[in-house]
Amino acid sequence: MEGNNYRRIGVTLEEALELMGEAVGDGKRRAAASTGKCQAVSDDKCRAARGRQGPDCREENFQELPLKEALGRILGCDYVSPIDQPPFPRSPLDGYALRSADTAGASREHPVRLAVTQGLLAGEYPKKTVERGQAARIMTGAPIPEGADCVVRQEDTDYGEETAAIYRELAPYDNYCFAGEDFHRGDCLLTAGTRLTAVELGILAGMGYDRVKVYRRIRAAVFATGDELTQPGEPLSPGKIYNSNLYVLEGRLTELGIETVETGVLPDTEQGVAGVLEGILPRVDVIFTTGGVSVGKKDILHGALDLLGVEKIFWRVQVKPGTPTIFAMAGRVPVLALSGNPFGALTHLELLGRPLLALLSGDSSLEAPKREAVLMDDFSKGGKMRRIVRVFYREGKVYLPKGLHSSGVLGSMQGCNCLMEIPAGSEGLLAGAQVSVLLLRRGEAAPGWAGSGGRE
Ligand code: AMP
Ligand code: MG
Repeated sequence: MEGNNYRRIGVTLEEALELMGEAVGDGKRRAAASTGKCQAVSDDKCRAARGRQGPDCREENFQELPLKEALGRILGCDYVSPIDQPPFPRSPLDGYALRSADTAGASREHPVRLAVTQGLLAGEYPKKTVERGQAARIMTGAPIPEGADCVVRQEDTDYGEETAAIYRELAPYDNYCFAGEDFHRGDCLLTAGTRLTAVELGILAGMGYDRVKVYRRIRAAVFATGDELTQPGEPLSPGKIYNSNLYVLEGRLTELGIETVETGVLPDTEQGVAGVLEGILPRVDVIFTTGGVSVGKKDILHGALDLLGVEKIFWRVQVKPGTPTIFAMAGRVPVLALSGNPFGALTHLELLGRPLLALLSGDSSLEAPKREAVLMDDFSKGGKMRRIVRVFYREGKVYLPKGLHSSGVLGSMQGCNCLMEIPAGSEGLLAGAQVSVLLLRRGEAAPGWAGSGGRE
């Protein structure tokens, strides 16, 4: 329970993020992620992009899906085109493919007449070259035969079948779609970490891929611990409180698009916790818990993790609230054990949980966006340790909510859409101070806001 067998005790937020990154897939393995079983060959540009995104590369994090099932998923490797698109020069309209030089001086009054020596529909392939004085009747999408360097639209002809009168002059490559004008063989069109929208599915299909390597959906387990916990709906006996953390965490993960496959309250004994976690390990990709991580008699997560035989990576992150967070690896499954204090748990879920999910899923958009903002109210509480404060953000300004700011208080979080950082060693901040903030949602609107300002 003393927790002295952690690899590190008392880490900065940055160190915590680094250690988590190493644990779920270090940089070198990441760099190799896309070249192993991937269908694609990467070029240097792609490698740089992948380095930036830094997706986790353990093979068990990926699956191969039929293209039709991959909408909304995150690409697991780079995709390089094996073909030119279009694969051949093609006509963008219905008309005649011909040699532009043959149309010199042509007009409606003085057309040039060419022999129509072949007809080409989309899907057919030319067998003959277009010689001087000749034209090929051609439909949209059909390959432009050799010899021809342009296409005249049929409206500028007499629609002739044996011979065609051409009513205008054309320049080389008028109405001519070049082979590879969309993309070339060897072009890296999509990089690992890209979310597949309808357009990306079309691009993959256009390159000929019918299956695609994607990150598996993250299956998360969320557990609360604590003998004081009562489930909402049950009568509250003396000494007990309702379990709100489970709802915040599960709800937050769902908001982030993470599937929570196991949730509940863990027994408040080391053996009980270890037993439940062991049982669910094969079915999940990440485990979040709240409570039992500090130094009290009932802070049983330390011992439970020992019984489970996990790799205890760090304990205590120098960020208030939520400091006693634990991070461990149970085989391939990361365990982030958060404080029981509702705002502490929420804060560390945002600060550590979201980057962890981003690593596991390859979806960098899971990380909360950072902004600089101006604080509109005084906040008197500083301290030795970096502190996170709930605030409302709008258009570059942040406002404090009414109500208490303590780690055990959830109510004043209502309507807050943002977390503000107060640097370590600060004596508090005055209105007008520049602050760094993490936006909790992409939009700024926060219905139900009841703070100091921000209402128009
Ligand atoms: P702990 O981290 O277990 O020491 O808990 C810290 C504080 O958070 C205590 O006041 C707990 O009663 C409270 N707490 C723990 N778990 C929950 C929960 N699931 N919902 C609401 N409060 C909790
Ligand atoms: Mg407890």
